[in-house]
Amino acid sequence: MQCTVEVDEKKLLEKVKIFKSGGTYVGIIPSFSKPDVNYTVVFDLASSHISCTCPHFVYRQKPCKHIGLFIKAMKEKGFT
Ligand SMILES: [Zn+2]
Repeated sequence: MQCTVEVDEKKLLEKVKIFKSGGTYVGIIPSFSKPDVNYTVVFDLASSHISCTCPHFVYRQKPCKHIGLFIKAMKEKGFT
């Protein structure tokens, strides 16, 4: 986990949208580097599996900063 983008992260956190769809939570997470790009984080409640559509996650299959932001936003919005 990186903690070097605290200020930007707060701004990004405001843009995060989360909604529940059946047994999953879906988060629309803004890209950290590209203002016009959003990634989608999907959290499956039954399996606790979480995934992101960004290249970093697709390539490495490891939690990326969008997932970190998603989890923070979930807590902030009272989803957890
Ligand atoms: Zn990602």
